[in-house]
Amino acid sequence: MKLMGKKIKLFIPGPTEVSEKTFQAFSKPMIGHRSKAFQELYASIQPQLQQLLHTKNPVFLSTSSAWGVMEAAVRNLTRVRALNCMNGAFSDKWHDVTASCGKPADKLQVDWGKPITGELVRDKLKSGVYDVLTVIHNETSTGTMSPLEEIAAVMKGFPDVLFVVDAVSSLSGVKIEVDKLGIDVLITGSQKALALPPGLALFSVSKRALDRTISVKHRGYYFDFLEFLKNHEKNMTPSTPSIGHIFALQSKLQDIFTEGLDARFARHRAMQKLAHDWVRTNGFELFPEQKFASVTLSCVRNNRNIDVPKMIETLKTKYACIIDGGYGKLKGHTFRISHMGDETPETVGLLLTWLDDCLKTIGA
Ligand SMILES: *Cc1c(COP(=O)(O)O)cnc(C)c1O
Repeated sequence: MKLMGKKIKLFIPGPTEVSEKTFQAFSKPMIGHRSKAFQELYASIQPQLQQLLHTKNPVFLSTSSAWGVMEAAVRNLTRVRALNCMNGAFSDKWHDVTASCGKPADKLQVDWGKPITGELVRDKLKSGVYDVLTVIHNETSTGTMSPLEEIAAVMKGFPDVLFVVDAVSSLSGVKIEVDKLGIDVLITGSQKALALPPGLALFSVSKRALDRTISVKHRGYYFDFLEFLKNHEKNMTPSTPSIGHIFALQSKLQDIFTEGLDARFARHRAMQKLAHDWVRTNGFELFPEQKFASVTLSCVRNNRNIDVPKMIETLKTKYACIIDGGYGKLKGHTFRISHMGDETPETVGLLLTWLDDCLKTIGA
């Protein structure tokens, strides 16, 4: 984004800033998607993707945004009835999407900003009527991270219910051990914590989910998990993918493993701490309870009733940078500081000093 010829830096929770190195990989010359060169590219990133997700399951690449695969998951896996956990804009919408696929589904709904807990999940699943559970690990609209390990422990008691997790804004910012947690489908997108351009979704699918898929009718073609599997076995995708994205992903995986996973997770924790300290120092509160605050973004409650649009406008004109002014019904009542992807304690620290100045400028 440019303002009077100047680049506007994105500190929003997606799309996030994309590095020059990534853009260079993204713009490599095209190769044929049925060529040996493509098969080598596809095969070369598979081990790192599995390492990133801590899984032995295949990790498929979908040329779509994350919603494509979120829809695909309920469409490919629901035979009887889905339970959609809802605690924010994205998870609420997932329920509507399930219904629009013609799948019977119920809500497990809590207020925005509250986490989904193991106990809530157990209470609902006890009825025995569900065969799919969808949950969003990191509700980006409210900056709330639900306790995935606790939910996973409950899911072990319901082996017939497939466990579908959206980690669109958390994967690679925090450790998610797909196999250990028994996650059947783990979905992420390119433009959040992975800091790639938007347009690619990545997802792992377990053997038991693929077995279920065989018995589900009307899965469509573009997002049919079995088509992904069939092509994966040849190191290909079902249709022509965004090849630039896959080059960019290869470059990003190099970055991730050069930094090291633990160092990457620690960097995200350090950025979160800076943001939380700033929130407290400035007399604000986090929107979720501290214990469930997202590691990759901070959703700040506007308890001081400042003019959020004015603060953001000042940030944009003075510092050529933007943050988000609150999602949907939280607009003006919250604002969100993103600290994911390639950001560092230095860049986040700088942003926070700019915000200090903006608060002063608007007389808040
Ligand atoms: C951004 C986001 C999505 C949707 O991603 P798209 O790329 O727009 O399809 C879904 N879930 C969560 C938690 C998100 O943050």
